[in-house]
Amino acid sequence: MSDRKNNMNYVGIDRFRLAAAVLVIAIHTSPLLTYSKTGDIILAGILARTAVPFFFMATGFFLFQKKDEMFSYKRFFLKNIRLYAAAILLFLPLSIYAGYFNQSPFFPALLKDLVFNGTFYHLWYFPAIILGTGITLLLLRLMPLKAALPAAFALYLIGLFGDSYYGFSSRIPLLKGVYDILFQCFDYTRNGLFFAPLYLMMGILLAKRKTLPRRHCTLGLGFSLVLMLTEGLLLHFYSQPRHDSMYLSLVFCMYFLFQLLLHCKGSAVRGLRRISLLIYLIHPWCIVLIRGFAKAVNVQDILVHNSVIFFLTVTALSVTISVSANWLWNLRNSKLPEGNCPNYLKASLLTEEAAPDQRSRAWAEINLSNLRSNLEQIKQLLPEGCEVMAVVKADAYGHGAVPISRELQVCGVRAFAVATIDEGIQLRKSGIEGTILVLGYTHPQNAGFLIKYQLIQTAVDHGHAVALNDAASQIGEAAGRSNEAAGRIGAGNKIRIHLKIDTGMHRLGEAFNHIEEIAATFRMPNLSIEGMFTHLCVSDSAHVEDVAYTKRQIENFYRAADEIKNLGYTIPALHIQSSYGVLNYPGLPCSFARIGISLYGALSQENHELKAMTALQPVMAIKARIAAIRELDAGSEVGYGRQFMSEAPMRIAVITIGYADGIPRDLKGGLVLIGGKPAPVIGRICMDQLTVDVSDIPEAKQGGIVTILGRDGDVEIAPEQLAEKACTITNELFSRLGGRLARIYISK
Ligand SMILES: *Cc1c(COP(=O)(O)O)cnc(C)c1O
Repeated sequence: MSDRKNNMNYVGIDRFRLAAAVLVIAIHTSPLLTYSKTGDIILAGILARTAVPFFFMATGFFLFQKKDEMFSYKRFFLKNIRLYAAAILLFLPLSIYAGYFNQSPFFPALLKDLVFNGTFYHLWYFPAIILGTGITLLLLRLMPLKAALPAAFALYLIGLFGDSYYGFSSRIPLLKGVYDILFQCFDYTRNGLFFAPLYLMMGILLAKRKTLPRRHCTLGLGFSLVLMLTEGLLLHFYSQPRHDSMYLSLVFCMYFLFQLLLHCKGSAVRGLRRISLLIYLIHPWCIVLIRGFAKAVNVQDILVHNSVIFFLTVTALSVTISVSANWLWNLRNSKLPEGNCPNYLKASLLTEEAAPDQRSRAWAEINLSNLRSNLEQIKQLLPEGCEVMAVVKADAYGHGAVPISRELQVCGVRAFAVATIDEGIQLRKSGIEGTILVLGYTHPQNAGFLIKYQLIQTAVDHGHAVALNDAASQIGEAAGRSNEAAGRIGAGNKIRIHLKIDTGMHRLGEAFNHIEEIAATFRMPNLSIEGMFTHLCVSDSAHVEDVAYTKRQIENFYRAADEIKNLGYTIPALHIQSSYGVLNYPGLPCSFARIGISLYGALSQENHELKAMTALQPVMAIKARIAAIRELDAGSEVGYGRQFMSEAPMRIAVITIGYADGIPRDLKGGLVLIGGKPAPVIGRICMDQLTVDVSDIPEAKQGGIVTILGRDGDVEIAPEQLAEKACTITNELFSRLGGRLARIYISK
């Protein structure tokens, strides 16, 4: 059994989406028909039938992943209904042209189409995903997956005998009678009732289980493909299938294919999901357009009557339109102002090839590949079942909360922690999904925003929990009144909570031995306690007493959890460690580890021993420019307060960065790098500038680049070194970087 955790970005799934969309075009254009009838059956009638079940499985797969987090089915359904409505409108002109509104009786036909058939031939997919998900959820609510799966399979069998096996069922009068009635309600059985639930459920199953080893998947897929070809060809040649969407062996094919895709590794390509959806959506329009065009300029013989060329042209047009639309979408989104961080906007448009900023005055280079590599390093240290909760408070320690979280989300991180509710809302508005935990105090009057943006709030103690519970109850009552419903709060209005336990830091948290207060919190009707956590205060220290203190903190926390469990409450997600906790106390059984500073490739302070444990790489480099070069005589004084006096003639450079950009004013013995050589900081650091001695660096010239943090040639200034010279820790250094400092994102 191999572990799916290692390829959380699901590249295989994403790439196959594109292939599946093209296979759907093949179904609707029959590429091989000009050359071979059998070839066409094999490609369009059998192999391409993997496409739609794949989409169902992918939906089920991700549906489950999201289920236990911030995920709302309401939003899922609304999204798909909206998409369906848009698709209906998009194809309205074609429906009108095809005489859709001339059929009679009209309204029963419309209802049938809306729920089952789709109002245009490929649009059945949307009602199928909506109805199918509804049925799947219903089955799973009624029974465990073990029983729901056979139930969905039974539905599939009913569908099968109305589809490719209809040749058999139509010969049995009783069966034929039943199907005649069914076909009054819909045109085909490959719909949301009989076709979708099984594949959706298989997707859910595979999200829960570990995947089979790759070799088994390959073998299984090969074997079931042969089986499906045999089944499909026999059915096509020896019976009269009513349709050819459903085969028995297709189920096995999909089971192995999907797992094989889960094994794929590689870097994720953004936008494939949207592009493949667009291809699926618009290709019938492309078919019509190309036919129309061929007719207009009289090239039907080449363009339409040759099935391969027709297929290729339709595919090329659909892909081009979809990729362009996706590009426009990204452009629009990256131009939307996002909170108060205008610098990311231009930065997030930079691609992998982008050179360091050509014109900026002072900037932070954020290396996303180092971020990815740090994430992998940290994951190695976590025990099975423990996930990274990325701490992206204080603008991701100055690295830019939105772009950092987006990158981590692409890498499979599904939990984030912030310090304030505003930081949480900013992430949500930027499309970050999954758990977002607010670590700090939130005023109960802001409870509505917690619910609206599906944020998880830390209850900082029992009193805070009481206040939040009351606030949620008022919101529930208000909602109840406006619905003219009973005053009881619905599940949708509960505040999601992680309860903080104080085990010795004496900052936030209900005391670990106040079991009565903790248990009371679990009973509060308007709170949903989804987690319980504590924070260690000396986990960075190797002193004997500190180690003992930390061990006591950990014991106290687990003891409190045990007592709560003994009182009959379900233990929610537990978490204890931050970066140092994971490095010094690895292996604690927890659901999450809250990782901040080490994700950014730094420790708070220099610690060679701990650094050697992992190969963390600093994510940030800070650069600025030389504004001017000055030649000074001996005895010249430099800067505010005349703090520096030259002993001999010297050459100095004025650098375009100062304390307003976050360079600490009391940096002692600071260095910057120019041309791979260290240049000592002299005189006082100003708000927007600082001065350095470049007597030994003849190549220093106006406009040249200066490295304040990071590597230049063979020399590197590590974050821990810079922090030490500023008498602080890297956490403070990073998080105080100014908003004026541009952030440039690179990924190589
Ligand atoms: C900031 C913070 C973290 C992250 O700590 P690092 O040392 O940066 O990993 C974890 N937990 C809490 C409660 C925090 O406030």
